[in-house]
Amino acid sequence: MAIRPNSPAARDVAYSLHPYTNARKHEEKGPMIIERGKGVYVYDDQGKEYLEGLSGLWSVAVGFGEDRLVEAATKQMRKLPYYHTFAHKSHDPSIDLAEKLAAMAPGKLRNTARVFFTNSGSEANDTAVKLIWYYNNAIGRPEKKKIISRIKGYHGVTIASGSLTGLPYNHRDFDLPIANILHTACPHHYRFAEPGESEEEFASRLAGHLEQLILDEGPETIAAFIGEPAMGAGGVITPPATYWEKIQRICRKHDILVVADEVINGFGRTGKMFGCDTYGIDPDMMTVSKALSSSYMPISALLISDELYQGIAENTAKIGTFGHGFTASGHPVATAVALENIKIIEERKLVENAATLTPRLQNGLRAFTDHPLVGEVRGVGMLAAIELVADKASKAAFDPVGVVGTYLFERCQDHGLILRNLGDTLAFCPPLICTEKDIDTLLERFGAALEDTAAWMKSKGQAAE
Ligand SMILES: *Cc1c(COP(=O)(O)O)cnc(C)c1O
Repeated sequence: MAIRPNSPAARDVAYSLHPYTNARKHEEKGPMIIERGKGVYVYDDQGKEYLEGLSGLWSVAVGFGEDRLVEAATKQMRKLPYYHTFAHKSHDPSIDLAEKLAAMAPGKLRNTARVFFTNSGSEANDTAVKLIWYYNNAIGRPEKKKIISRIKGYHGVTIASGSLTGLPYNHRDFDLPIANILHTACPHHYRFAEPGESEEEFASRLAGHLEQLILDEGPETIAAFIGEPAMGAGGVITPPATYWEKIQRICRKHDILVVADEVINGFGRTGKMFGCDTYGIDPDMMTVSKALSSSYMPISALLISDELYQGIAENTAKIGTFGHGFTASGHPVATAVALENIKIIEERKLVENAATLTPRLQNGLRAFTDHPLVGEVRGVGMLAAIELVADKASKAAFDPVGVVGTYLFERCQDHGLILRNLGDTLAFCPPLICTEKDIDTLLERFGAALEDTAAWMKSKGQAAE
């Protein structure tokens, strides 16, 4: 499609570098311009409607065009558009949101957590890394600094959080990862279990790998383990049964902090309020963003246990100040919007709605299991993935990776469904306000796009049996 001169697309191509985009291809094709959104649908500049099957970027839980959030933002903008939270200052929205998050938090964080506000998931995880280091210096164990993350984990793209991320594109030619970040095995049963190995056996083997890594490095050098309860951007990978229980046991044994990255899982995505609730995780630290404000405003937060807080607080008293914070930490408009967003999630019982719709979405997608292109259908709550394979029996991936996935992703868009393909894995993460009918529409549109893809494969003489 030619790009109209002076169109938004032409301007964009001239001046922008886009995340997760091949810049040269982008110059040729131009961007898809999304103009407006309402409920679970968005519309492009040609007026074409799309069901947003990924909630934007895994985040617009309450859907598009939610007037209550617009009003919360406008009201706060009029009253106090900005104030900071440095040097003994604060304001109501920031205090209220911190209290609210502590009151909702899982495990030992409940009612005792201290909250530090940041502006993106990456910043929240960077702050987690800095506070882990600061805390261990504060309590006199400066050698305990290494942080273990997982292959295919996603924790953002800034220098520390990009290092925690376990995906090649986020490291390559960026000179990452930095020192003191280690990656342990990915808990994907379909891909990495031995033939005949049960989920429980696989989980035990992974816990064994983790412990071996800790012993090889020296437990006195390992500070923390970070993970998404269910992995998102690495391919929507749900942990095998008993995984988190076994991982936590190893961490406790060696006095290693457990950090839960709830940036996608948080606020109902897994069918409970937090992924930690779904998987029985009792974290020492937790990061949230995305559905925290349904992405209407950029905001994220790091929750830390009282024990960590006390160690850190004591050190700030010793040094004289806490030398960390962002100009927009706890921004009044962003915190006001997040508060209203959580109110909507609670009042409309969107977590319960996610739990109710879970079988419809998960079983609906599992109905594609027998399709010749489908290797695995997986997911939890309102989060799911379909992984395409070249050969079902051997689970062989396509070579090169991503061509078929991209084709299917584009056919989904033709049929009015926006998803995201992570290589040859299609990710699903529809808004929590979905109705049964919306789920059925999603499944129908996906099914039609999958048939188009199968027909295309056949025409190329590459049809899988
Ligand atoms: C999106 C995401 C991040 C990073 O958030 P940004 O706001 O893009 O920096 C971190 N962790 C997880 C689990 C995410 O999905």
